[in-house]
Amino acid sequence: MTQLVTSSGHERAVAALQRSYEAIPPGVPVRLAKRTSNLFRFREPSNAPGLDVSGIDRVLSVDPERRTADVQGMTTYEDLVDATLPHGLMPSVVPQLKTITLGGAVTGLGIESSSFRAGLPHESVVELDVLTGDGRVVTATRDGEHADLFRGFPNSYGTLGYAVRLRIELAPVKPYVRLRHLPFDDAVKCAEALREISESGQYDGEPVDFVDGTVFAPTDLYITIGTFAETAPYTSDYTGQGIYYRSIQQRSVDFLTIRDYLWRWDTDWFWCSGALGVQHPLVRKVWPDQAKRSDVYRRLVALDRRWQASARLDRWRGRPPREDVIQDIEVPVERLPEFLEFFHREVGMSPVWLCPLAARESWPLYPLEPGRPYVNVGFWGTVPLPPGRIPEHHNRLIERKVTQLAGHKSLYSTAFYSREEFWRHYDGETYRRLKGAYDPGGRLLDLYEKCVRGR
Ligand SMILES: Cc1cc2nc3c(=O)[nH]c(=O)nc-3n(C[C@H](O)[C@H](O)[C@H](O)COP(=O)(O)OP(=O)(O)OC[C@H]3O[C@@H](n4cnc5c(N)ncnc54)[C@H](O)[C@@H]3O)c2cc1C
Repeated sequence: MTQLVTSSGHERAVAALQRSYEAIPPGVPVRLAKRTSNLFRFREPSNAPGLDVSGIDRVLSVDPERRTADVQGMTTYEDLVDATLPHGLMPSVVPQLKTITLGGAVTGLGIESSSFRAGLPHESVVELDVLTGDGRVVTATRDGEHADLFRGFPNSYGTLGYAVRLRIELAPVKPYVRLRHLPFDDAVKCAEALREISESGQYDGEPVDFVDGTVFAPTDLYITIGTFAETAPYTSDYTGQGIYYRSIQQRSVDFLTIRDYLWRWDTDWFWCSGALGVQHPLVRKVWPDQAKRSDVYRRLVALDRRWQASARLDRWRGRPPREDVIQDIEVPVERLPEFLEFFHREVGMSPVWLCPLAARESWPLYPLEPGRPYVNVGFWGTVPLPPGRIPEHHNRLIERKVTQLAGHKSLYSTAFYSREEFWRHYDGETYRRLKGAYDPGGRLLDLYEKCVRGR
């Protein structure tokens, strides 16, 4: 069972965090000093002291009666899930990568296969304590004194302040999840089925608890629906030699324990472990199971970036430079076929992940229309840059297409908007008001500088 932190321990940790914040010299950018990250904007390593968040990475309490948990801001979902599952509960939305933290998913947006009914992780936050840019710790709730911060925190990426404690809603689980992988041969039918299943919460007369999808090719698409089960005739294991995403094409029905379901994508970082050779049978055999994790792969990718190993190898082999195309975007469900057609034609990378969602409420810095069905499309890989094209050619095309389709783009990776366009998409007016109220001295970076200029 996960070790919990006491409330006095938490108070001491918050006081230490405030001292660490005050100790960062004025003018030095504030950076989190933590071992893991799921950002895909790589920066040069810095010798400047970071904000020491090591004391705020634990669960405070789980209340099975009220179905809530009090959690420190830098707690990973892996630890959080370990604390809630013994009570038969899970956070309403559990992002797929084990080291995503609760604070990171709320400030930087997360999504998963329960998002069609539960929205995004920030929508199940009841209250949050924030260390603001001006050094205060304030409690923000939906309708309290800091309601404006509560609403503006999602998609602020730590530029208004850092979440130090969050109270979140939990949802009941059953021990197993029964999966059905439904094949489609065209995107229009697939989008229509995603919409119907998400809106009705049913498929074939049975309740649906989870929905996501995988596109292997323009005529090879799958929707995977998950339904809680008290018992299972067998359970599959994709944490060793088996590879979850391949099973989608190979079987129509499957059973996983709830824990394995929640982490089904982490073992192979969706499919991205393939780029490191981990899906080759021989490499897979010798690669330790405990190192088949997204954070291990991300560290290896960060090292590769730093030393430019793959880029040098490509040059040496006379191959064109490759462009990282790593993004999550959302489009209204009826525009999904158009986006996929564009993506197959212009980028040509597969597989692609689909996840339906509907926001429960409106959140100014990431304005999805509440109740409207959207689909998140995730793609994480590299493609060759065609000769004569400017760097980031594909990423720029994608950004423009998403705008054309009335969609939105997550900001954990690269972005290229002009300042004016960026603030049109992400509500510059509200952001400026919040920045003035919670970080008047500009101690933290500005959202545009951080997410587009990559500072
Ligand atoms: C390849 C890839 C795939 C992804 N796929 C998914 C997905 O399918 N589902 C999903 O849910 N998410 C996905 N994400 C996005 C991920 O949820 C966000 O990047 C999230 O912000 C990462 O959280 P982290 O805790 O790792 O934060 P970090 O990567 O450490 O930081 C992210 C940002 O949040 C800020 N931050 C971190 N903690 C806090 C805090 N406590 N308070 C305020 N600000 C904070 C940091 O300053 C930084 O700007 C994906 C990311 C990548 C790179």
